[in-house]
Formats: sequence, C-alpha cells, structure tokens
Amino acid sequence: RSKTEGRNTYRLYAPEMDTRAKNQLALETALRDTAETGEGLSIHYQPIFDWRTGALHSAEALLRWHHPTRGAVAPGEFIPLAERSGLIIPLGQAVMRMVCTQLKRWQAAGLRPVPVAINLSAKQFWQDELPGFIRKMLQRCDLNPGLMGFELTESTLMHDIERGLDTLAALRGMGCSVAIDDFGTGYSSLTYLQRLPVTTLKIDRSFVSDLGTCRKGGCAIVAAVTGLARELELQVVAEGVETEAQLRALDRYQVALVQGFKTGRPVPADAFSEAYLRAMTSGRDGD
Ligand code: C2E
Ligand code: MG
Ligand code: MG
Ligand code: MG
Repeated sequence: RSKTEGRNTYRLYAPEMDTRAKNQLALETALRDTAETGEGLSIHYQPIFDWRTGALHSAEALLRWHHPTRGAVAPGEFIPLAERSGLIIPLGQAVMRMVCTQLKRWQAAGLRPVPVAINLSAKQFWQDELPGFIRKMLQRCDLNPGLMGFELTESTLMHDIERGLDTLAALRGMGCSVAIDDFGTGYSSLTYLQRLPVTTLKIDRSFVSDLGTCRKGGCAIVAAVTGLARELELQVVAEGVETEAQLRALDRYQVALVQGFKTGRPVPADAFSEAYLRAMTSGRDGD
C-alpha cells in the first residue's frame, strides 16, 4: 500500500472489515443457538452406487443448516466456523443423533436402510469421548453398527498417527466402516496407510473431474489410487462424478462405487427413501 493512499485506505477498508467480522460473529451466535436447540439443522443423503450392477451401496450424510433469516448456509461456510469455535462437537453429536433416528425410522417403516457415512472433522476425531459416544448411541438406538460409517481426511489422521490408530481401531472394532475422504489432496504417508484399519478410500472430486479429459494427470492419480487400494484390499469410491465420460473412465480403472450429481444429488431423508430405498425393498420380493 502506497504512502499517499494510506489514510484513505484505512478509512475505506476499516468499516468493511468490521462488517465482515460482525457478520462472522452474528453467524457464530446463530450457530451456537442452533447447536443447542437443533433447530434449522437437517441431513441430506447422497446415494453411493455400484454403477455396474446399479445397486445402491450406501449413502453419505451431509449436514444442512437453514439460518432463520439468511436461509440455507453452505457447509463450506459454516463447517469451518463450527470447527474454529468448537461448535462442531455439539453439531456433530446432533448429526449422529439425526442419522441414527432416521435409520430407525426407515426400519420401522419396513424399509431396509443402507449404511450411512458421517463426516468427522479433526476436532471430533480427536475427542477422547468419541468412541464411547458412538457406542452408547448405537446401543440406545439398537442399531447394527454396520449401518454406520465415518469419513475423515488424511490431514486429520496424519496429525497424530499413533493416537489415530487407537480411535480407528475402536470404530472398526464396533463394526463401523471408516473411509479416508478427499483422498489424494492431503499429505498422507503411504507407509502409514498400510497400517490404518480403514475400509475405504474416497478419490477426491478434483481427480475425478480431470478424468473425462485426462487433464493434469488426473488419470494417473486415479490409476495409482485404485492400484494401491487393490493391493491393500480397500474399497474405492469416486466422489463428484458428474459426466458419462467420467463413468466410462472409472470403469477402465475398475472403480465400481460412484457418488456424484450424475448418479444422485444429496436429498432430504424422505426423498432419499422414496427414490432409492422403496424401490430396493419392493424389488426384493418381500424377503
Ligand atoms: P465432503 O465430505 O467431501 O462431501 C462431498 C461434497 O461434495 C458435498 O458438499 C456434496 O454435496 C458435494 N458433491 C457431491 N457430488 C458432487 C458432484 O458431482 N459435483 C460437485 N460439484 N459436488 C458434489 P457439501 O454438502 O456442501 O459439503 C461440503 C463439506 O462439508 C463436506 O465435504 C464435508 O467435508 C463437510 N461436511 C458436510 N456435512 C458435515 C458433517 O455433518 N460434519 C462434518 N464434520 N463435516 C461435514
Ligand atoms: Mg465426506
Ligand atoms: Mg469428500
Ligand atoms: Mg470434499
């Protein structure tokens, strides 16, 4: 900033910064109320398909927040805020409660739910109480732990690998699946990957989007990840599949599990069961 514009710049920009800080604070206050009451929170479910057989494999639970005056706030905006403020702990517990309740509701309606994966951010994963909380909730809801999965990123895991191994072992020991989310975007050590008791690698959307055209070596990454997964006997899910060309390319690399706008957007629970669970149940000859 030049000397001559110094003062004016200060006068011009200070109120703006102030507004942004105030907005953030207001949003945090609203999020705090929401975390307490649960009001305005809901879950959208996005289907994950085995696209070769067409079978529904599982779903990812994605948190939605409807702000009283602002309307829908994107997770990309409120999740980082929730992490910084620590509100992710009560919010994350609300997410787990909502998913458990929904799974029970589907079962009570005679539908057969598929496993649902819940995202865990670093603060949640490093909470000593996490495995105990999950165990208690699964027991209280009398749910098969195989119906619940978790997704965490490489950076969360690599932060403290030895302690992470314990938590992962606890989750796996209960019978829950665990996926590494956005795989390929973070720093991850292949040596450790071999030791991690995870079930699934989710190839990040950025690599999948390069697939149609093989731009920027996107194909090379997908080839490497699928090869690695095969050797380590891990499942692979391709995230963010948007085009037919991407599906065809994924077939070349024998990636069967796909998630994306092409095969199904995240939708509210009722829409999810109408579109996917009901069809599946009626196709089973009532067994
Ligand atoms: P994520 O876990 O990687 O979730 C996938 C994101 O990609 C979702 O965004 C989903 O709507 C979006 N997506 C799915 N298919 C496509 C596609 O074909 N094209 C494009 N462009 N996008 C697609 P969403 O719902 O906005 O969530 C963003 C992130 O917020 C999530 O990324 C996750 O990291 C975080 N998040 C969402 N719900 C929760 C939650 O309950 N707890 C925590 N801790 N984090 C959450
Ligand atoms: Mg995820
Ligand atoms: Mg992801
Ligand atoms: Mg992502």
